[in-house]
Parts: sequence; C-alpha cells; structure tokens
Amino acid sequence: MGLWLAMLFSCGSDPDWFGPAPVIPDAVCAPSAAVPAHAGVRAVQVQLYLARGQPAERASAYTQWAAAWWRAHGIELVGAGRWRRTAADPILAGDAARLPADPDAAMTEVVGPLSQAMRRRTPPADQVDVVFLEHLARPGSPASQWFTRLAGLSLSPALLQRSPPDDPAVTLLTALGLDEPFTPTVFLDLSVLDALPQERARFVMAHELGHALGLPHTGEHGNLMGPGFPRCAPALTAAQHSSLRLP
Ligand SMILES: [Zn+2]
Repeated sequence: MGLWLAMLFSCGSDPDWFGPAPVIPDAVCAPSAAVPAHAGVRAVQVQLYLARGQPAERASAYTQWAAAWWRAHGIELVGAGRWRRTAADPILAGDAARLPADPDAAMTEVVGPLSQAMRRRTPPADQVDVVFLEHLARPGSPASQWFTRLAGLSLSPALLQRSPPDDPAVTLLTALGLDEPFTPTVFLDLSVLDALPQERARFVMAHELGHALGLPHTGEHGNLMGPGFPRCAPALTAAQHSSLRLP
C-alpha cells in the first residue's frame, strides 16, 4: 500500500524538495512554448479559502507568485486576491487504533474527511477552489505517517478525464465516491509550504493549479508538471498550452 499511496500523493512528498540542491528561480530550464497567439488570455475564476485561524499573509505570497506565473503563461486567475474562511480540519486522518487491515478499507477511512470536505463544497461552478489549511494530514494520525511532507493535493474532473483508468488519481476519485461534475479543488498545506525553502514552496501552488486545470504529470525535467523540484523557472510545452484551452 505504501508505494501506491506514494504515487497517489506524490506532489510535494518527494524528499528532494527538502534537500540542499540549489534552485535558481530566475533561470529558465528550457524556454516555455509561446502562448498560442490565437488563444489569448484564458480567464479562470479562482475562489480562495483560508482555514479559520490562519492569517491571510501566510498564504498570500504563494498566491501572488502562482498568479504571476500563470499570467505570464496565458492564464489569468480572476479573484485570486479575495478570501473566504473555511473549516480548519485536516482532510486526511484515520484512527490508528481502529484502522482496518484491508488496504482499500484503510484508505477509505483515511480519506474520509476529504470526501466530506468535497461534499461540503460549493455547487459545481466554472472556477477553481484553492483551500489553504494548516495541515492536510492530521498530526499523529496514520495519514500523517503515510503522507509526510505532503504539500498539495488536487482534485479535478478534467484531470480525471485525461488520466488512464489505472492512474492513481482515478483510483482516488473512485475511492472518494465523488459524482461528476465537481469544482476542481486544490488543497495546500501551509505548515509544509512554510518549511520549504521559499523558492521551492512558491512553485507548489502553480503546479497544483496545473492539475486543477487538467494537466497530468510529465516526465520532463524543468516542466511545471515534471518530476521532482524545478531547479529553475518551470516551463510549459505547446501541447500543455493547447490542453489548457480545451473545455
Ligand atoms: Zn503533482
């Protein structure tokens, strides 16, 4: 089960992210493909939620960097400066004393709060929800041991449609029992983000928004959706630009 979970929640759980390797934020790994001239800017409504008790300044740096990065790549995040408050409960938990031995049943229990959180969300709308929590995994719970240093988690109908049936993202959404359509939602862990070097932490929200907009991982180093952590300003390919314009 451990490997399966690691694949499922690989965003930000790579130990490399916390290592000493240098990052040169303003260096470009490889030039991004140009935004298609005919495409123009795509406006995406974003609704930000901040867990009760968390100061807005704690999340604003991540938001501003992600919004600037996406604006430079042809996506305008509309409303990214407005906040609403939301519940502060972690979305991954489980009770170690009562965790079922069966892996599927254990997974269902651990993601139970996430399933409930998604069902509480606003009705499906043409927007992306971004939720900042102090912790994604409840400290001391089995989830906190399985998902150490989990920086972000994204759920997206578009990502689901573009992923093969055996993709872990499909397995997760099946386990959650969510009926489409639902609002694409990014969950971010402020305690993990704050522990990262800032030049790394600021990539996370941009990356997770890529998932929310339907972009899967790629094997290309230096890409926003690539493996590990970018050593320099991440890029998008022409194919990704085209994919972002699909409904
Ligand atoms: Zn990812």
